[in-house]
Amino acid sequence: MNFKHLRQLSCIVSEPRILIHCDLDAFFASVEMLHHGFPEDEPLIIGSDPQQGRGRGIVSTCNYAARTYGVRSAMPITEAWRRCPGSPYGPGRYIRGTRSLYSMASRRVMKILRKYADKFEQASIDEAYLDITEFTNGDWDEALGLARRIKSEITDSVGLTASFGIGSTRVVAKMSSEVNKPNGIHRVLPDEIHSFFQQRSVREVPGIGPKTANRLAEWGISTVDEASELGELALARMTSERFASWLLRVVDGTTSNEVSPIRSRRSIGKERTFPVDQSNHEVVLEVLEKLTVRVMAKAREEGIAGRLAEVKLRYTGFETHTHGRSIPVAMDDTDVFLRQVRMLFAQNVNQEQNIRLVGFRLGQLEVIDHRQTTLDGIDESE
Ligand SMILES: [Mg+2]
Repeated sequence: MNFKHLRQLSCIVSEPRILIHCDLDAFFASVEMLHHGFPEDEPLIIGSDPQQGRGRGIVSTCNYAARTYGVRSAMPITEAWRRCPGSPYGPGRYIRGTRSLYSMASRRVMKILRKYADKFEQASIDEAYLDITEFTNGDWDEALGLARRIKSEITDSVGLTASFGIGSTRVVAKMSSEVNKPNGIHRVLPDEIHSFFQQRSVREVPGIGPKTANRLAEWGISTVDEASELGELALARMTSERFASWLLRVVDGTTSNEVSPIRSRRSIGKERTFPVDQSNHEVVLEVLEKLTVRVMAKAREEGIAGRLAEVKLRYTGFETHTHGRSIPVAMDDTDVFLRQVRMLFAQNVNQEQNIRLVGFRLGQLEVIDHRQTTLDGIDESE
C-alpha cells in the first residue's frame, strides 16, 4: 500500500463530522418585537398579567433589554415587576405573547436551515443541529462561510437573528453557539477543542449541573481543564465514574456527533387528569414535576436515557398541545429533565386557560452505555 492510499484510508476512518448548532436569539421576544415594531432597547417581558406587581404567574421569556434589569425566564411575574416595573412606574412592557406567531416564524427558519444540511434535527422551537459534512466537503472554512450565508438568509427573509456554533460534536457546537451570542458565529476546529475548554467554567458545559459543579468547587476545581487534568480515576472519586469518563470524552471531542432527523422513536411517559380543571398553574407545575421524577426513575430502572423532554398540556375543552425540547446528549438524570420541564412549561403554558391534563414524556431514547452517559448533577445550561 502506498502512502496515498494510507492517507485516504486514515481520512475515512478519522474524518470528523462538521456540525452546526443554530440558536435563535431571544426568540419569542424577538418575534414579538418584530411583529409589533417594539424598539429593541425597550424591556419586553412575555408572560402572565403582572397586575401591577400583584400577578400570580411567571415570566415566559424576555428580550435582552429586560435581561439587563435582571429579568429571567420562569421568574415569578411579581419579581420581574419589582426589577423592571411596567408603565407608569417603569420602562417595562408586559405582554401575554402569541404562540401562533412563534411556530410560524420557527417553521420559516427551520425550512431555511434544512436546505443546507445533510442531516437535520430540530432540537426545540428555536434550536437546531445540522450535519454539514458532505455539504461542505468536510471543509471547515466552507462551513464558516455557510454559517454566514445561512445567518444572513434568516435575517433577510425572516427578520430574526440567530447565533451559530460550528464544531465536531453536539456539545462543542452547542457551546460554540453561546460564544458570540447574540447574532454571532463561533467555530471550534477539532484541534482547538482542548484550548476551547481551557479556562472555561464547568458550569458552561451543557450537562454539568449545579450539584456536580458545587462538588467540584469543594475540591477547588472550577474550570474544565482543571477537572480533566485530574485524570479519570481522581475525577471519578469526586463525582462518578460515568461523569469522569464523559467529561474526558467531551474534552477529547469524542462525545456524540450524531444528528438524527427522527425526533423520537420510542418514549416513556406519564400523564395525569385533574378531577376538576385546574386554574392554579403553580399546582399544575408541581404535578408535572412529580410526573417527571417518576418517569426518570422508571427510565433509570430500565437502563434508559433520553434526549427529548416533552410536556403535554390539555386545556378545558380538550385542546391539547405538546411542547418538546432536546438536550445534546442522552441522559437519565432527574434534575436535567426537571429543568427542561420547568422551562417548557414556563414558555408554553396558556396563562388564560384552565388545565385538564398534564403529562411528561421522555423521548429520543438510548440504551445507557455506562461508559458514556453522565449521571447525577448533570443538566442543561442554556
Ligand atoms: Mg434561543
